[in-house]
Amino acid sequence: MYMMELTERVENVLELSLTQKNGLEKLHVNTVRDLLWHFPARYEDFSRFKTISNVTPKEHITVEGKITHIDLRKTWKSKVAIAEGTFADATGTLKLIWFHQPYIARFLKDGDLIRIRGEIQSGKRGLYIANPFFEKIDRLSISLNIKERGLIPVYPETRGISSRWLHFHITKLLQSASLNFKDILPKAILTTYHLPSLIHSLRAIHTPRNEREAEGARKRFAFEEIFLLQLSRIKERKLLEKKKSFILKTDEEALKEFLEKPPFTLTASQRIVLEDLKNDIATPTPMARLLEGDVGSGKTILAAIISFIAVKNDAQVAYMAPTEILASQHFNAFSELFKGLRIKIGLITSSDTRVFPSKAFPKTSAHVSRTQLLRWAKSGEIKILIGTHALIEKKVQFNNLALIVVDEQHRFGVQQRARLARTKMQTENPLPHFLSMTATPIPRTLALTVYGDLDLSVLDEMPPGRSPTETMILMGRTRKKAWDTMREEINKGHQAFVICPRIEHDDDRIKSVKKEAERLKKEIFPDFTIGVLHGKLTPKEKETTMEKYKKGEIQILVSTSVIEVGIDIPNATVMVVEGAERFGLAQLHQMRGRIGRGKHKSIFFVISDSQGEKTKDRLHALRNARSGFELAEYDLQLRGAGELTGSSQWGISDVGMEALKNIKMVEAARKEARNIIEKDPELSQSPLLKGEIEIINKKLLHFE
Ligand code: ADP
Ligand code: MG
Repeated sequence: MYMMELTERVENVLELSLTQKNGLEKLHVNTVRDLLWHFPARYEDFSRFKTISNVTPKEHITVEGKITHIDLRKTWKSKVAIAEGTFADATGTLKLIWFHQPYIARFLKDGDLIRIRGEIQSGKRGLYIANPFFEKIDRLSISLNIKERGLIPVYPETRGISSRWLHFHITKLLQSASLNFKDILPKAILTTYHLPSLIHSLRAIHTPRNEREAEGARKRFAFEEIFLLQLSRIKERKLLEKKKSFILKTDEEALKEFLEKPPFTLTASQRIVLEDLKNDIATPTPMARLLEGDVGSGKTILAAIISFIAVKNDAQVAYMAPTEILASQHFNAFSELFKGLRIKIGLITSSDTRVFPSKAFPKTSAHVSRTQLLRWAKSGEIKILIGTHALIEKKVQFNNLALIVVDEQHRFGVQQRARLARTKMQTENPLPHFLSMTATPIPRTLALTVYGDLDLSVLDEMPPGRSPTETMILMGRTRKKAWDTMREEINKGHQAFVICPRIEHDDDRIKSVKKEAERLKKEIFPDFTIGVLHGKLTPKEKETTMEKYKKGEIQILVSTSVIEVGIDIPNATVMVVEGAERFGLAQLHQMRGRIGRGKHKSIFFVISDSQGEKTKDRLHALRNARSGFELAEYDLQLRGAGELTGSSQWGISDVGMEALKNIKMVEAARKEARNIIEKDPELSQSPLLKGEIEIINKKLLHFE
């Protein structure tokens, strides 16, 4: 009999049109395995489905039907934009009203089939639903045999591939007799943790008879995902430990001298971490360490010290940052710290190549040609090369690269880039030491999973002389308090940030950098200088603006969240974030860290016009959390499945993210993964697991 393999390509199993092929590709579905692991985001409970003729006020319902009329108007008094629609099914009509969402009137048109959910209310003009959740559908579900099955899966869909299509084909696949996959998880693990078998779980997650059955299956897949990730990391770590790296000894005398330059002494926490780093690089086993420290905790100086030690051993260092702004900031900071030491430092980004010190003016840097810079990197003349991901291009070669530092590695895509950097440079022999730094405090369970191959150091102490930043929440209220504070602070000679969620936007209720900058200039702060910063500016424009802001020539910087990362402006004491509900908690925490970096007390205003309870809870957590780590744990617990926008950043599915809420499960998965690698480091006795890990690693590298 024909046996289908999980690795079989979908087009060999299903007949697909070109649109469908493209759609599947977009969903990252290439193989039968991908298709079967494309899990429903939720289930529609069809027992709640209603027809309009039998709804009653206050009832929460789901109805399907047609838009028969849609229009846009403004309320007479408050000028609130209202999209108003009439909705009909075979049994009657309902009114639909959306407040504050004028775009809905543009998005929906007469005749559209939609499914809506919401609470029935009764008004002067009959029954209606306010702000219903809706989705466009291509067919009414009434044709489905609703009585037979209460739960219908709803899949993430894309053009050409509807949830309905997925439901149909996955169900068919699961019913086919040729399905006879071996379980990926070892039997002993299934038994120990009472997890259902693979086949059973696949059927239960795609075609559950009830919620409980679906739950059990999700738990199994969550465990599976976390377990496989851990296994891959722990395996990688084991391999790494077999490799040889440079032995970099610390010249204590020289280090002491080096540390006399910065105008401060290291905190106790910095000293402890420095010991970790010194020990790591003094042994021939490659360092693989993650340094976590809240924004402003002083990671850069540690990167500089460790680079100094490497260079003193006559080796080279590569220092990678996620953005051009940050890379040049590090380059400038390093130039300052290494002044007078006759150590050549290079900067490479996609738009600039520089070197310090310049021949003519040894206290400054100078532009050099890319070719020259690359030549110096290859010959070993440049000791420290700082850059963006331009640093890991093939053309960039080193003579004796002994240390790689990756800064702010949490930034979107950079986790992958860091890995890429390491993988690329792992062809070097001996292998360079590797230090990764992040300011994103991530929950422990996530760290154990995605960084399972790294040792962890934590900077848990802030440099002295800073007063904690105060957080003020302005919800649906006037901004007067924020503007008054800004004015006061700027009059004291300080500077301010205003962060908007968008660069430009038609809808006035979503603040955009361009409009807001103009408005502030015209209506609120005509007497102050205002600059703008966002991702659409050229690198040159960005740099000029940052330079001006640093020098104090710009008093208010209106920006998108691009300033989220690393920028150091101690004179900035106020930040106002508009549309706070549009940012993640970790992101807001990062932004807050941009101020309060000097001696002066700083104030962080978060503004949200949303009245939602959830937004309120989140912002209160932001205000009250004692540290970023606390906030991260809170964030993880607070986010519902399916809403985990951050998950793609880690290469973890929504199902996997659910598992991260459960420390016991994560630790169990880790223990099992360790046991297996301990006994069989190459996984030669578990070809199935080995294959899975290869898939994971490939995915990680192709992530962006
Ligand atoms: P981050 O960890 O966010 O990268 P930085 O390395 O940019 O933080 O440091 C933030 C600021 O703190 C910098 O201005 C830096 O010079 C300063 N700093 C670092 N270590 C100390 C210290 N031990 N004492 C006082 N200031 C310090
Ligand atoms: Mg930093």
